[in-house]
Amino acid sequence: MKTLEQIAAELQGYDPQSLPVDSVAAFLRELVAPVADTEALPLFACLDRVLAHELVSPLDVPPHDNSAMDGFAFDGALLLQAEPELKLRIVGTALAGQAWRGQVGPGECVKIMTGAIMPAGLDTVVPQEMTQLADDGQSVCIPTGLLRPGDNRRLRGEDLRRGESALRRGERLGPARLGLAASLGVDQLHTYRPLKVAYFSTGSEILSLGEAPREGAVYDSNRYTVFGLLRRMGCEVLDLGVVPDEPARLEAAFRQAAEQADAIISSGGVSVGEADFTKAMMKKLGDVAFWRVAMRPGRPMAVGRLPKTSGPPAILFGLPGNPVAVMVTFLAFVRPALLQMMGCTDAAPPLLKARCTQAIKKKPGRTEYQRGVVTRGVDGMPEVQITGNQGSGVLSSMAQANGLIVIHHGQGSVMPGDLVDVMMFDGVI
Ligand code: AMP
Ligand code: MG
Repeated sequence: MKTLEQIAAELQGYDPQSLPVDSVAAFLRELVAPVADTEALPLFACLDRVLAHELVSPLDVPPHDNSAMDGFAFDGALLLQAEPELKLRIVGTALAGQAWRGQVGPGECVKIMTGAIMPAGLDTVVPQEMTQLADDGQSVCIPTGLLRPGDNRRLRGEDLRRGESALRRGERLGPARLGLAASLGVDQLHTYRPLKVAYFSTGSEILSLGEAPREGAVYDSNRYTVFGLLRRMGCEVLDLGVVPDEPARLEAAFRQAAEQADAIISSGGVSVGEADFTKAMMKKLGDVAFWRVAMRPGRPMAVGRLPKTSGPPAILFGLPGNPVAVMVTFLAFVRPALLQMMGCTDAAPPLLKARCTQAIKKKPGRTEYQRGVVTRGVDGMPEVQITGNQGSGVLSSMAQANGLIVIHHGQGSVMPGDLVDVMMFDGVI
């Protein structure tokens, strides 16, 4: 396991006093590793878990050539005749769920239902609505010009072939992937165990809910946003409450968190010139780096490892105290790092390009995250507007937003009508 110093030494231009967000992400990729333990679960319990192995298809899906429509199955070679219409005698009915075992001769067809196995020798289905029953009531008239041989037949194995990779290790098991596993007859999967994450808020001015308001104090919101962010990711959470700026209380919280969790998220007490004991305690208990990240909001941040009595150390994320900064640093850094620890290898959702309706002043040299509301413009294209006051403590800006506008490190001011990148919350938080 590389020490923090070794990781830093391998990063180009590492400057803890002004660290670009890309360097933070690169550092964290080196710092964390997937949990080792996996567990077998029945399929219904696998939703949102991360698959710990490759799933190879044990069979062909679908298992037989079958009809994609209700209609009549016939030999597609008959379409190659010049006649504008074919008249075929109906010699039976193929129902879904059982094979029709009759013989089909020249000039004959079989009535067939969607999903029914294609009778031997027949390769084409004409949908019922394209046909007309002949006067004799026992034959059907089929227009030849609208069909090609092989139409409306689903091929055996066209979804998955036996031996083909159906799901890969590290894929998050969403509804489609659960359904795919089920379509293969697989009733349980091995998944990485869920991550356990401890969190607490620090600061002597922070009130827990239920406490009476007092001068200079604010209610703790960070534990609630962090709780929500973690639960959305499928993490198990350990809430250690509000911890005042007292060495003994901080030490107890950090030690308990390190012992019981894979990762620790604290908020507050990591700014420069902070008169509290949080940073000193982190330094005393583990291998921790303190950064000023070139971003807004969310500049100060601590990252490191706190040892356990046994097993791999807990990963520490010491986030700033400001409520918006907590959510932004979580989304930018903590979430990707936790996903990596969960074993997840799915690519991050792509950023949406939206037309910005207003000017945003910005200097190159840091990444800025503005809270935005994305709507459809009059031309149907996505448009984004910022949610008023963008102060790093203004949580209402976050509550109104449906995405974060990301103005990248090298980017300057945005003009009305410019396209900007937006990290959409939908599907993320
Ligand atoms: P700090 O990073 O500790 O200097 O905190 C920065 C700002 O965030 C201060 O105004 C704190 O009062 C506020 N703050 C810190 N922690 C919390 C919290 N858990 N809930 C709400 N506000 C907080
Ligand atoms: Mg503080």
